[in-house]
Amino acid sequence: MTLHLHNTLTRKKEAFTPIDAKNVRMYVCGPTVYDRPHLGNARSVVVYDVLYRLLSHLYGGDHVTYVRNITDVDDKINAAAKANNEPISALTARVEQWFHDDVAALNVLPPTNEPRATSHVGMMIALIEKLIAGGHAYASQGHVLFSVGSYGEYGALSHRKLDELIAGHRVEVESYKKHPGDFVLWKPAQTDDDPSSIFDSPWGKGRPGWHIECSAMSTTYLGENFDIHGGGSDLMFPHHENEIAQSRCALPGSRFANTWVHNGFLTVNGEKMSKSLGNFITVKDLLDKGIKGEVIRFALLSSKYNEPLDWNEKLVHDARVTLDKWYRIVTPHSLRGLPPLRETPQQVRGDMIAALADDLNLPKAIGLMHSAAPEELPAMGRMLGILQRNSQEWFKGENAAQSIENLINARLAAKRTKNFAEADKIRKELADQGIMLEDRPDGTTDWRRT
Ligand code: AMP
Ligand code: ZN
Repeated sequence: MTLHLHNTLTRKKEAFTPIDAKNVRMYVCGPTVYDRPHLGNARSVVVYDVLYRLLSHLYGGDHVTYVRNITDVDDKINAAAKANNEPISALTARVEQWFHDDVAALNVLPPTNEPRATSHVGMMIALIEKLIAGGHAYASQGHVLFSVGSYGEYGALSHRKLDELIAGHRVEVESYKKHPGDFVLWKPAQTDDDPSSIFDSPWGKGRPGWHIECSAMSTTYLGENFDIHGGGSDLMFPHHENEIAQSRCALPGSRFANTWVHNGFLTVNGEKMSKSLGNFITVKDLLDKGIKGEVIRFALLSSKYNEPLDWNEKLVHDARVTLDKWYRIVTPHSLRGLPPLRETPQQVRGDMIAALADDLNLPKAIGLMHSAAPEELPAMGRMLGILQRNSQEWFKGENAAQSIENLINARLAAKRTKNFAEADKIRKELADQGIMLEDRPDGTTDWRRT
């Protein structure tokens, strides 16, 4: 079965041919560890987890190398550590653990390698030195900048010319840049920087820019030419465009990644979910409300991976109804006999694999599951990272959550009839069980465990 993937570089759905079928190599931009992952970040992680499962199925689990990095040196991290008044190392260690906990709750498999940027600064410096030597970068006022004019194909990924790119994006015009599109490879340390974010370099003490981090980590683990590079579509420009330019210029003759895959945004009322817009919901927010990680995962997989997906309560509700339906019919014995998760599941229906191999056609794959026989479901579900528990375990704790919802509804009914004594009694009853209520302006009530 031939895998077809939409390649951002060519803007076409292409037949995927790995450089080496015995070692299929994929790099995906991982989290910048300054705050808890939100559902938009989670969508990216979950989508590439499905692609990883599919590659493992097609080529064998031992023949896929999947690298997802941890960005643990970045301006956002410095700013967050300062705002929290804590050392950077404490912040990054804590957030990395949160990330791992949250994606594990979403049934995400660990990647083959998960390099941290701070452990690869030597490689970043080596790449920057090559760029300077090749006339692609210059040192200026403690910075080192990549000269975009030195790379004729700049803009090939975003399919725009340099001038259009600059006009369409916020590009800062600093005095140390020769051209406004030049981007930072190395930046000087500030006097009040935390020592753990300061590294020695031939250009003085400082830290690497974000883009060079991914070039260094991907080529260290996957070589100068590898198969797939993934990330959210917000990373196409400038991050991925810059990764291509600096990698190809530092490693002459290399192609860097052959296939570029970009997942669509998770949106809220049509707007990208993001930290800066403040419209984000973290994975932990939902887990704390008693929503199962697998329900969140399945909701995130409910549309084409490269189209926007709008997050709302109906999406979660529908995901839960479907998973409940399937967990009611999966027969416990059909779980037995499946090899461990990391190994290739052998008996998956061919049409399921064909749907996923068609540029990860998730709606089609899920449609097939709706008409599948109960004994086929666990193997199909494993391709999507769902239905891997037994039903008893799935429905355990369900009654507790339901009774909380019932009490909340009873309290709302009491409030509507102005029976405030009863409403307060119910609030106290829930508080005694460690459930905090939060009334929202729209008349509904949220709850969380304290
Ligand atoms: P960040 O931590 O912001 O660098 O993002 C980590 C990953 O999540 C990147 O691959 C982003 O492209 C992706 N991402 C961030 N926000 C969203 C969103 N709203 N929808 C989909 N992917 C996103
Ligand atoms: Zn990256």
